[in-house]
Amino acid sequence: MTGTEIACGDCGTVPPGRPGRRPLCPACKLNRRIALLLDDGTGHIRPALRPLATALRNAPNLSTSRLWLYRPLAADLLTALATGRVPLSHDGLSTWPRPGAARHLRHRLIAYGILPPVDPHLADIESWLRHRLAQITEHPHEQVLRQYALWHQLPRLRATAASRPLRSTAKPYATQQFTQAQLFLTWLHDSGVEPAALTQARLDTWYATHRVHQRYRVGGFLTWATSHGHLPRGLVVHQVTFKPGTTITQQRRLELLRHYLIDDAVALPARAAAVLMLLYAQPLSRIHRLTRDDLLTIDGTPHLRLGDPPIPLPTPAAHLLHRLVDEAGRGGQWLFPAACPASPSPTQPCTADYARQDSLSVKPESQRSASSCCKRPRRSSPTRSDSTRPRRPANTPTPAGPGAATPPTATTSNRQRDDQAGTRRTNARAGQ
Ligand SMILES: [Zn+2]
Repeated sequence: MTGTEIACGDCGTVPPGRPGRRPLCPACKLNRRIALLLDDGTGHIRPALRPLATALRNAPNLSTSRLWLYRPLAADLLTALATGRVPLSHDGLSTWPRPGAARHLRHRLIAYGILPPVDPHLADIESWLRHRLAQITEHPHEQVLRQYALWHQLPRLRATAASRPLRSTAKPYATQQFTQAQLFLTWLHDSGVEPAALTQARLDTWYATHRVHQRYRVGGFLTWATSHGHLPRGLVVHQVTFKPGTTITQQRRLELLRHYLIDDAVALPARAAAVLMLLYAQPLSRIHRLTRDDLLTIDGTPHLRLGDPPIPLPTPAAHLLHRLVDEAGRGGQWLFPAACPASPSPTQPCTADYARQDSLSVKPESQRSASSCCKRPRRSSPTRSDSTRPRRPANTPTPAGPGAATPPTATTSNRQRDDQAGTRRTNARAGQ
C-alpha cells in the first residue's frame, strides 16, 4: 500500500483504481445501504427480505444495485416494507402510491422467491385500477365505472392470465378502455343526459364528434353497459374496423433478413428480434417472452420453441441468438433480458432500436405481414382506419392458448372479409 492509498473502513481493502478517494469500497458502501434500508427497526435486516439483500450483494453489477438503492422512490418503499408500514404482499405493493417503484420491486421480490409469482401485467392493471377508482369517488357515475372495472374488466383479465401470460399491451389496452369509459360518462353528465335516457341519436352524435381511438376503446364499455342495463338495451354500438397493413415483398423481406444477420452496427437484441420477426412473423410481445430454454438443439440441429413442436432455426439465426445469450452473461432466464431478472425486456426499447434504423423505412408490422404469407404462424399488420359500422353487442373474446403463435392483432389480406366480422373480438385479444 502506498502512502496515498486509504483502506476501506469496513473491510480493510483498498478500492481498486481509486487510491485515497473513498473511505469505503463499493461493496461495503452497498452493504451499508442495504442494511440501512432493510432494517426492520431492530438494527437487523428483516428476515423475509434477506434473499433480496443477498441478491443485491451478489449482483453482477454492484453499481446498478447501488444506483437503484439510492433512488428516493425505491428507498422509501424498501423502508416501508422492512418496517412493516406496508405489508410485504402483492396487495401491499398495489396500495403504494408510486406504481412504478412498486412494479419494479414486485418483479425483484418474485424473482428472489419472497413473493409468490403473479402475472406482472395483471398486477400492474389491478394496481392502476385501484388507484384510479380511489380518484373518482366524486364522479357522478362512479358506481357504473366501479362495476365495469371490478365485475367486467378484471375477471376477464384474470381468466386470461390463468390460461397464459398477459401480453405487454394488456395494461395500456385495459387502462385506455377504462379511461374512455370514464370520459364517455363524463360527457353524458356534462350534456345533462342520464345514461338510462341515452338515445341512439345522442350516441351517434358522440361518435361523430370523437376521434377514432376513442370510439375504438369505448366499444367494450358500451357493449357491457347496454347488455347489463346501464344504458338502454336497444342502442346500436358501432364498431371501429381496421384495414390490413401493407405487405412487403419477398425480395424486401430477404434484403432485411440479410441486413439484420450481418450488420454489426445494429444492436444485437434488435437484430435478433428483427430476424425472428422476419423468419417466423412473431410479434415483439411474443419474442420478448422467449427464454433461453426455448433455444434447443435437436439431432444436432438448432431449433426454437415458439410453440409445440419446436421449429428448425437457420444456422445464421441460431448463431445470432447464441451470441445474444453469450453477451448477456450469467443469470436470468430470458433470451432478451431486462435490467430486472424477473421480467423480460419490455418491447418498447426493442421497437425503439427498430425505429432508429431509418434507412430501412419499414415498420415491424409490415415485416410481420410479409412473413405471414409464407410461414406457419399467420401474421398481419394493423393499420387503423376511420370506418365504423353497426355491430351486435355482447362479443366475448376467448383467450388464445399458451402455445398459440398467431398474434391476434389484425387481419391478413386474404382473410380480410372474415376478419371484418370479427375485428373487434380479435383486437380485444390483442390488447391482452
Ligand atoms: Zn470494504
